[in-house]
Amino acid sequence: MTRIAIIGGGPGGYEAALVAARLGAEVTIVDRDGIGGAAVLTDCVPSKTLIATADVMTTFEDAPELGVRIGEDAAHCVTGVDLARVNARVKALAAKQSEDIAEGLAKAGVTVVHGAGRLADGGATVEVVTPGDGAGKGIVEKVAADAVIIATGARPRELPSGRPDGERILTWTQLYDLDELPEDLIVVGSGVTGAEFAGAYQALGSQVTLVSSRDRVLPGEDEDAARVLEEVFQRRGMRVLSRSRAASAVREGDRVTVTLEDGRTVQGTHCLMAVGSLPNTEDLGLEAAGVERTPSGHILVDRVSRTTAAGVYAAGDCTGVLPLASVAAMQGRIAVYHALGEAVWPINLKRVSSNIFTAPEIATVGRTTFNAESDDPKFDVVKLPLDTNPRAKMLGFHDGFVKLYARPGSGTILGGVIVSPRASELIHPVSLAVDLHLTVDQVAAVFTVYPSLSGSIAEAARRLHKEEE
Ligand SMILES: Cc1cc2nc3c(=O)[nH]c(=O)nc-3n(C[C@H](O)[C@H](O)[C@H](O)COP(=O)(O)OP(=O)(O)OC[C@H]3O[C@@H](n4cnc5c(N)ncnc54)[C@H](O)[C@@H]3O)c2cc1C
Repeated sequence: MTRIAIIGGGPGGYEAALVAARLGAEVTIVDRDGIGGAAVLTDCVPSKTLIATADVMTTFEDAPELGVRIGEDAAHCVTGVDLARVNARVKALAAKQSEDIAEGLAKAGVTVVHGAGRLADGGATVEVVTPGDGAGKGIVEKVAADAVIIATGARPRELPSGRPDGERILTWTQLYDLDELPEDLIVVGSGVTGAEFAGAYQALGSQVTLVSSRDRVLPGEDEDAARVLEEVFQRRGMRVLSRSRAASAVREGDRVTVTLEDGRTVQGTHCLMAVGSLPNTEDLGLEAAGVERTPSGHILVDRVSRTTAAGVYAAGDCTGVLPLASVAAMQGRIAVYHALGEAVWPINLKRVSSNIFTAPEIATVGRTTFNAESDDPKFDVVKLPLDTNPRAKMLGFHDGFVKLYARPGSGTILGGVIVSPRASELIHPVSLAVDLHLTVDQVAAVFTVYPSLSGSIAEAARRLHKEEE
């Protein structure tokens, strides 16, 4: 029986463990902070649970347009959120999710060891420092393995001149200890994490200032989508400071001052630092085992999750391939298939679908960075504004669009961007089209419900056919 040892119990690790156990391997998973990893305990699951409450607030904000009376003297009006209750729900849900995963692992016959793991004996063994009996030093256990998968994830990056104190200057992992809504929240960083929290807290009732070092929010994402979101943010009263790099954050009493590199200052009651992540790749015995890292500290892997050391694989955020739970899980599964000699398809990032959980959401799959006007004549693109869709009009959705990319001639769908409420649920047909190499005609020929938001996907496909003629 092949022995597989996994360091890290997040999606990269636990998905690998489940697949390996199903395929008959003897599996041990070592985790330091809780099964489910940062994805379940501090990042993905908590943030989306918080955003679920924010979405309800957004719905109420937009409700008067649909004839709903919301005011101070209405009988059941919304008066705000109870953040202590919201956060209690977030934590309970995350803990339960972690428990469910741990139960699933136990049922599958996976041995779970609580402690910090590292490679030893040239990578053939995982050495675990367990917490021991709580009275003294940890106990060291050794787990022998034929293959090791490292899935140790990442942690929030901190600015040396703005160290989080967990009360007023916070990382995203510390937000759930707040009992009261920040009155005036400064969010430093306008990437996906910064944008999601800025939007959510604005909806929950905080005054939000978003400090972005670039000329727009969501640098690196679809430009049209980022523009829609920035407009919506500003319309809802958010202060967006672009080309404004934060140099420091200092707390004085119950105020925080963020100083920008050009000397300007921004004042608030709280500051969320969303300035990226660092991989957890220290103290893992990598060098001695021959596992190379990139200059950014990530573990170097190929498309089947192999590291530079034989028998040692890596998956998830510690590899820096693409920081998504879905990608971590896929890398973990691929590592197992490869280690056990099963058929394996190298990871294909062109097929990854992802979503930014703002209001509206931004969902993306496949090729999306094509610039129709200039550089790349090999792609056709159609963008349909959401307010041309009958269902969107009925629902009062004004901000957003459906955009499809296709190859001229064959009409094969290459990618898409959907900006809309629940875009995360709408992108799936486009993902199927990209994955299965469907053509615009094939997609256009499939019935959609009338009226429906997904009707815009079929309509965009139809328009792409016309553009060919
Ligand atoms: C705020 C936020 C929201 C996000 N939302 C989404 C989302 O909606 N969708 C999505 O797909 N992705 C999302 N992500 C990204 C997603 O959380 C990560 O891609 C995912 O957690 C990566 O999984 P992983 O298994 O690599 O690592 P993790 O989930 O970080 O798990 C790693 C585990 O390894 C453990 N560990 C570390 N070192 C050791 C050691 N030496 N010994 C033992 N154990 C160790 C850690 O304690 C942890 O439990 C979000 C990220 C952030 C920051």
